Amino acid sequence: MFVAQRSAPLVSQAAKVARVSHAITPASSRLFSQSAVSRTVDFGLSDDQRSYQDLARKFTRENITPVAKHYDETMEYPWEVIKKAHEVGLVNTHVPEAFGGIGLGLTECALISEELAYGCSGIQTAIEANGLAEAPVLVAGNDQQKAKYLGRMTEEPLVASYGVTEPSAGSDVANIKTRAEKKGDKWVLNGSKMWITNAGYANWFFVLAKTDPNARPHKALSGFIVDGDSPGLIRGKKEINMGQRCSDTRMVTFEDVEVPEENLLGQAGDGFKIAMGAFDITRPLVASGAIGLAQRALYEATIYAKERQTMGKPIINHQAVAFMLADMQAAVEAARLLVYKSTWLKDQGERNSFYASMAKLLASRAAVSNADQAVQIYGGMGFNTESPVEKLYRDAKIFELYEGTSQIQRLVISRHIADLYDA
Ligand SMILES: Cc1cc2nc3c(=O)[nH]c(=O)nc-3n(C[C@H](O)[C@H](O)[C@H](O)COP(=O)(O)OP(=O)(O)OC[C@H]3O[C@@H](n4cnc5c(N)ncnc54)[C@H](O)[C@@H]3O)c2cc1C
Repeated sequence: MFVAQRSAPLVSQAAKVARVSHAITPASSRLFSQSAVSRTVDFGLSDDQRSYQDLARKFTRENITPVAKHYDETMEYPWEVIKKAHEVGLVNTHVPEAFGGIGLGLTECALISEELAYGCSGIQTAIEANGLAEAPVLVAGNDQQKAKYLGRMTEEPLVASYGVTEPSAGSDVANIKTRAEKKGDKWVLNGSKMWITNAGYANWFFVLAKTDPNARPHKALSGFIVDGDSPGLIRGKKEINMGQRCSDTRMVTFEDVEVPEENLLGQAGDGFKIAMGAFDITRPLVASGAIGLAQRALYEATIYAKERQTMGKPIINHQAVAFMLADMQAAVEAARLLVYKSTWLKDQGERNSFYASMAKLLASRAAVSNADQAVQIYGGMGFNTESPVEKLYRDAKIFELYEGTSQIQRLVISRHIADLYDA
């Protein structure tokens, strides 16, 4: 039986060490406004941030870690955990107070995501998918839409879904085929979405659909809020995935689904911008989930390496093993700092897409590579379902795929680079 127990929080150790100010190069300062560059860098957490982190850590230790194996094996949807998390305020954390939420900043949300994913990234994904569905409403919803759809999420433990990907279009969002046609005062949706997290249980869906097939790709799409009980909305079977197996992923088909005009987000033609704008909020949170997994892999591998003996000493004393742990530690730290930078920018009201993509790219790599090295350190035992790292290995890969693959993150990052450097 393997039970995770974290040692002293790394972020709090970092807080003791650092209050560093350093100059930001002219090139990189182009990504910030002047108000932001004049500030110092502070690696510490505020008392409030630490208390959210502590709450999420305690919740994970008591309610997620002990049941993670059960949910992985049975693939049951983790409703009971979601309900408890809702009760203590760890779901929908970025919904503003005006709409019934607690209105946390993105940095606080990231601290919570990391802790939840440390216990089980499948359960964290089920919780976090709410944030993904809510993000377009936060980005483009009017007050009535926010009050109705965000408000209800805070009142009771409901889940929602973000429906963009289709069987023939994932990375190529502009190429989606789902159509929404205006008929009187309603929009009528036809098409299919694929790989939609929480789809079996969602109370409502954010759906991206083509509203003007003749417009250039980025003006052809619109975003809608679609009620889960709409006639013609058909939920497919639960997909059996490699990892994060309790997270619910399904196809959703729309057959003449009527959506009232009042559920259009922003203006017709705004959909692509809205769907992408949501990623500025959600990619840092997916990245922090990946860090939670990477940190867990590091913890499990270290404990095992201290206990397991070969050739007369604990394997942590073989340099080849110790160096793997060193790489794992460095990967976690670097990715975490990028997440904090991306969330800090957003919390300052700055554009953070560039940093959100770098955070997602490096954090997902840290998750995959740390899980891989943890299995290596466990040796044959790492390949067995009785070890904690086998699940981490299976769970990690999705971080390099959903919310934009690693290739798509590189695409986003590379688009900024030419503007950064002049001869
Ligand atoms: C478990 C799970 C949960 C998911 N949850 C959701 C969800 O809740 N909502 C939702 O809308 N979607 C969701 N997705 C979908 C996910 O976001 C997509 O699978 C992902 O964006 C990749 O799209 P694709 O699968 O169509 O791959 P493709 O776009 O077909 O890509 C295939 C390969 O080609 C590469 N590639 C594609 N285009 C380029 C390019 N221009 N340059 C370089 N390389 C490229 C990709 O990186 C990838 O390696 C989920 C997927 C999974 C597996």
